[in-house]
Amino acid sequence: MKIIEIKAKEIFTKTKLGADWVVNPYAGCGHQCLYCYAKFMAKWRPVEYGKWGTWVEAKVNGPELVQKKSVKGEVFMSSICDAYQPVEKELKLTRRILENMDKNVKLSILTKSDLVLRDIDILKKFYKIEVGLTINSFIGKAKELFEPKAPATAKRLVVLQKLKEQEIATYAFVSPIIPGLIDLPDIINKTKNLVDYYWFEFLNLRGAGKDFAEVLKKEFPASYKIVSSAALYQEFIDQTTNLINSFNIKIRGIVKH
Ligand code: SF4
Repeated sequence: MKIIEIKAKEIFTKTKLGADWVVNPYAGCGHQCLYCYAKFMAKWRPVEYGKWGTWVEAKVNGPELVQKKSVKGEVFMSSICDAYQPVEKELKLTRRILENMDKNVKLSILTKSDLVLRDIDILKKFYKIEVGLTINSFIGKAKELFEPKAPATAKRLVVLQKLKEQEIATYAFVSPIIPGLIDLPDIINKTKNLVDYYWFEFLNLRGAGKDFAEVLKKEFPASYKIVSSAALYQEFIDQTTNLINSFNIKIRGIVKH
C-alpha cells in the first residue's frame, strides 16, 4: 500500500449523504473492495499512483484542520475511504481527528473494520454517536474477489455486539445486494438484536465499474444475467424490497440506483 501524505485545504465537506458534513481522513482505501463506488475519484489522481486500492492519500493536517473549525449538525465518516482501513492502525489519523473534533455534533461512522473498537473511549464523548457496519453474506470466492482485504462478516458481527454492550447506537448497512449472493433472512436473523436500524442498498453495476462487471460475469454468471438486464433487475429489486418490508425491523432507507 502506497501512502501519500498530503495537506488538505478543508476537512469538513458539505454532503447530501444523509448528513450535513462528511470527513474523509483518507482518500483511497486499502480494503480494496472490487465494487467500490469511490474508485471514480482515481481519475483525478496521477497515473503513477497506480490502481485504486493500492494507494491511499493521508490528510496529515486533518487533526489541525478539525480543531480550527466547528460545525453544527451531523458529521458522517466517510465517503471516499473507510476511516478504519488497515493503515489507520499505524497512522492513527482518524483517532487524532476525532480527538480534536468538537464533540457537540452527531457523529455517524460507517466501516467494515473492527479497528473502530479501539476508539470507543473517544466515540463516547460525542453528543450523539452511531456506528454502522457494512454487512453482507459474501463468503468464499465472493468474499475473496469482492472484499479481499476487509474483515469477514463474522468479525463485523462481533463489532456490532461489542458496540451494543458499550451502549453505542448501531446500524447495519446491508450492501451491495447482489442476486444470488446475499442471504437477507440470514443477515436479519444474525443482526436483529445487534442493531437499532437498517439501511439497504442494491448493487449499482455502473458505479461498481468495468472490472467488477467482468468478474461478476465470469464467476457468477447467473447474478450478472439479472443485474445486467433492466427488466430482470427491476423484478429482483421489487421482490427483494417486498421481502425487506416483510421483516419486523426498523428501516431507515432502501437505496436503489
Ligand atoms: S471499504 Fe468502502 S471505501 Fe473502502 S474499498 Fe471498500 S467500499 Fe471502498
